[in-house]
Amino acid sequence: MTKLMDGKRGLIMGLANDKSIAWGIARALSEQGAELCFSYQGEQLKKRVDPLAARLGSDFVVECDVSDEGSIDALFADIKNRWGKIDFVVHAIGFSDKNELRGRYVDTTRANFNLTMDISVFSFTAVAQRAAKLMPDGGAMLTMTYYGAERVMPHYNVMGVAKAALEASVRYLAEDLGKDGIRVNAISAGPIKTLAASGIGDFRYIMKWNEYNSPLRRNVTIDDVGGSALYLLSGLGAGVTGETHHVDAGYHVVGMKAVDAPDM
Ligand code: NAD
Repeated sequence: MTKLMDGKRGLIMGLANDKSIAWGIARALSEQGAELCFSYQGEQLKKRVDPLAARLGSDFVVECDVSDEGSIDALFADIKNRWGKIDFVVHAIGFSDKNELRGRYVDTTRANFNLTMDISVFSFTAVAQRAAKLMPDGGAMLTMTYYGAERVMPHYNVMGVAKAALEASVRYLAEDLGKDGIRVNAISAGPIKTLAASGIGDFRYIMKWNEYNSPLRRNVTIDDVGGSALYLLSGLGAGVTGETHHVDAGYHVVGMKAVDAPDM
């Protein structure tokens, strides 16, 4: 039986370990026949990423720090050499100083504002610039965002401002690249316990709140995100671009605390 991603090749950026959202997405794509390249940040992560890539039949693992233009160029040069072209890119990368992911947004420093915007927002555009050149037959790009872009969430602070800019970039990139048959979308995931999330203040409280108050009365998993990513990156999502798709157990539609939510 043919699979949704048979014959498709793509890049997964942001795999740190088997809790990463990138892992849920990579698994879903691989199960449907996709061939994957993985990029990771820093030598320390290589020993975690290599065996995960191998589990999905890939030995194509490349270091890339997205704060460094030369590093992004080198990654795409490697991909061009080995594959010539690609069909999709997943950008599951974000960073901010965790000291500013608690307390008040108003206290954000200029240095961390710039750093957060560079790594969590501009990097997606920097990647799109290179990836588009390797998509002569069209393709699909996907990034990860959070509801803190749309509404004020405790402790999310500068990351919320960055995610709002990221969601706006998705719309602008969708317009610029649409003529070339390239679709650009974001998934707005509910809170999931990952390495990056552990830097956010009171994260356990936020997860409980979502579990008690989202319409599905549960938190989402990296497999939930993987399923929706598969839809957006495969032919099933052929008519979808510029979209921020919520995979959050419905939390974003809720206006107030659920009547059956326990006291916290
Ligand atoms: P994670 O820690 O597993 O992944 C974050 C990744 O970003 C890591 O692999 C890290 O190496 C990478 N990264 C950071 N700085 C980098 C740099 N300079 N160059 C290259 N890579 C860099 O955590 P995650 O939760 O899977 O995060 C993936 C994405 O999902 C992030 O954009 C995050 O904001 C977003 N997201 C997470 C949640 C959640 O609750 N976990 C919810 C919504 C959106």
